[in-house]
Amino acid sequence: MESGHEHIGGTALVTIRVVRHLLVLCAGAVLVLGGQRAAFAQQLESQALGDGIELFKVRSNFYVLTGLGANVGIQFGTDGVVVVDAGDAAHTDRLIAEIKKLTPGLIRYIINTNADADHVGGNQKVAKAGKSFLAARGPFGPPPNGGAAAILASEGALTRMSTATGAAAFPEAAWPTEAAIPDARKYMYLNDDGIEVMAQPNAHSDSDSLVFFRRSDVVMVGDIVDMRRFPVIDLARGGSINGEIAALNRIINLAIPSVPIVSREAGTVIVPSHGRILDQTDVVEYRDVVTIVRDRVQDLIKQGKSLAEVKAADPTQGYRKRYGSDTGPWTTDMFVEAVYKSLAANKSGPR
Ligand SMILES: [Zn+2]
Repeated sequence: MESGHEHIGGTALVTIRVVRHLLVLCAGAVLVLGGQRAAFAQQLESQALGDGIELFKVRSNFYVLTGLGANVGIQFGTDGVVVVDAGDAAHTDRLIAEIKKLTPGLIRYIINTNADADHVGGNQKVAKAGKSFLAARGPFGPPPNGGAAAILASEGALTRMSTATGAAAFPEAAWPTEAAIPDARKYMYLNDDGIEVMAQPNAHSDSDSLVFFRRSDVVMVGDIVDMRRFPVIDLARGGSINGEIAALNRIINLAIPSVPIVSREAGTVIVPSHGRILDQTDVVEYRDVVTIVRDRVQDLIKQGKSLAEVKAADPTQGYRKRYGSDTGPWTTDMFVEAVYKSLAANKSGPR
């Protein structure tokens, strides 16, 4: 009996050792592949369509179009077409034409990841090119958008779009017809896929949503991830650094990387609105950088430093070369200022 116990114990120990050894091997492989992971998007079948527009085949019924404003996700099947973001207003006819080349199905839903013009600019025309499920059924009376495809976005996006004035105003036909509320579930089941729209409070703005296609295993993440630069925290429109980091963590928690077979270019596909297609490991790296910069700024604020002193201390050090910019619409200086102001506002009460 005694020796039997020992034997069992010994076997268990060996098993643990083997598992540990495998984990170490896996970690090594991740490091080795680190330089090649940037090629994730290149593993996907893609086609240049001219005029800077590119089509990526993510799944057999899920495509991504780039170069039309924000990246556009297109999922289709027997229920019709679900379009994530409608691009900018200048490219809408082209977008509709490209969708028609992919599938004869009717456009049923547009889902917006935020209320920026390069995401919602095409809403009205794309919705009109489609058809509401409600119109097809009839007994509910005239649908709110005249029979056009439904438009789904966060409650924040609906508020932004319906209250914008002047040059920033949108016609009513472009407004969301359905809204997702933070912390409340909003889902649909279309084309054999569970689709969850997760409104993220105060991240890039107050209008962000993640759109998760469960069966396809694709998450459209809007402007929350932008590997070309530090994330745009749009303070004037309700963005906040802590909400941004919370949203990044949400994406990481939704996604699954390719383990234990790390050499495979597999796992949850993460599609940001700008830049290349990503996997979970990319977002972990990005989240870490953003969190480190936030923590540095937070420490400097605790030391009583002014905005000018925080900027002079260069809290983006080590990451400036990769993500920073001295020119263009979103400079390193603007990012640091947004982080500072967001945290300083946080200290005095509101988020
Ligand atoms: Zn955008």
